Amino acid sequence: MDRVNVVIIGGGVVGCAIARELSGRIEDVFLLEQSPRLGMATSTRNSGVIHSGIYYPPDFLKARFCVEGNRLTKEFCAAHGVPHNDCGKIVVAAQQSEIPELEKLAENGRMNGVEGLQLVGAERIGQREPHIRAAAALEVPSTAIVSAEELVKAFARLAGDRGASILTNARVKTLEPRPDCVAVGVEFGDPADRERLRTEIVEAQCVVNSAGLYADEIAALLGNNSYRIYPVRGEYAEVVRARAELVNGLVYPLPHHDRLSLGVHLTKTLWGTVLVGPTAHYVADKNDYEHDRLPLEEFLQDAQRLLPELRLEDLRLAYSGIRPKLVPPGGKGIADFVIARDPTHPRAIHLVGIESPGLTSAPAIARHVAILVSETLD
Ligand SMILES: Cc1cc2nc3c(=O)[nH]c(=O)nc-3n(C[C@H](O)[C@H](O)[C@H](O)COP(=O)(O)OP(=O)(O)OC[C@H]3O[C@@H](n4cnc5c(N)ncnc54)[C@H](O)[C@@H]3O)c2cc1C
Repeated sequence: MDRVNVVIIGGGVVGCAIARELSGRIEDVFLLEQSPRLGMATSTRNSGVIHSGIYYPPDFLKARFCVEGNRLTKEFCAAHGVPHNDCGKIVVAAQQSEIPELEKLAENGRMNGVEGLQLVGAERIGQREPHIRAAAALEVPSTAIVSAEELVKAFARLAGDRGASILTNARVKTLEPRPDCVAVGVEFGDPADRERLRTEIVEAQCVVNSAGLYADEIAALLGNNSYRIYPVRGEYAEVVRARAELVNGLVYPLPHHDRLSLGVHLTKTLWGTVLVGPTAHYVADKNDYEHDRLPLEEFLQDAQRLLPELRLEDLRLAYSGIRPKLVPPGGKGIADFVIARDPTHPRAIHLVGIESPGLTSAPAIARHVAILVSETLD
């Protein structure tokens, strides 16, 4: 491998979906993942929800790719045996005064092209979720859950079957623009085994930066310092097995006013467990999953607004994930996905701020990136 068509940096769900989309039509597609396994960062540290697209402003890429990605992900899962469940979800108004906000959310969802949205009252909520306290709810039938791990694996497997090379323990360390390519400096091997590490330079006609939390640092290797990712940790607790029957599906509150997250929600997983979370707090380090974990009391407070019967002894701490936010601490509003050619080095395409709904959007993002890649190679 010294001169190739495409190098994709990052083997999360988005990089793997791009590899699958490009493989079969473009030769010499290489995906480079620094970790020993694919999808070990944000792509498997999330809620595993195939979102509908109700939340995002209609002119956002997030809205377009989420609605398209919802359909594409479900079709992909059905075609390739990826475990998923078309369970739908409810967003609840805890009291009457929240109902206008619920109506606004439904209206936004309809503008984004989300189908089947319906406001329902106490009787219907009681049938779906007898233990949930709510004045009204928005039913969102297109929401589903998926095994994120199996989804990543399936994208990568198909990409490999169609000729793409998927390499793990392959860290991109340098990027150097050359007249008709980008020279990618890659360190291969386990960083703990320094003696066996080897470095290679690969010349790529097109580079796709899909490095998740590190996409800003990869762009900076080309001298592009215009992006900055702020890590925001999302922590989960889990309801003990014996009490998991308190929840049947996916139950969300109205989204937080700070727009940092969708609010701590209840997720019945494919394995019958119930997750409470994720929370949202800025952290200093992109790798800081465990330091200073929140006490269970914080999860309980949020969860009891939806599920008053829940008790502290019903909860255990679970995993956490880190969002690649583009909005700094104290900043207002939400940022859209950034998918753009490097302004100075157009052979590089950067994907930055691919936070939620990135898992859902992955196949739609991949289609979009495939067009940009084809234009680069033409
Ligand atoms: C708490 C939480 C809950 C979420 N819930 C949902 C949800 O329910 N539904 C949904 O749609 N989305 C959800 N998301 C968002 C979703 O998980 C992400 O948008 C998605 O996983 C992003 O995938 P990615 O491939 O861009 O990034 P990543 O999974 O971070 O992959 C990037 C990869 O690049 C690799 N990399 C970085 N630097 C280098 C380098 N120099 N060389 C080689 N490789 C490198 C990393 O090791 C990593 O594997 C959630 C996110 C969080 C944090």
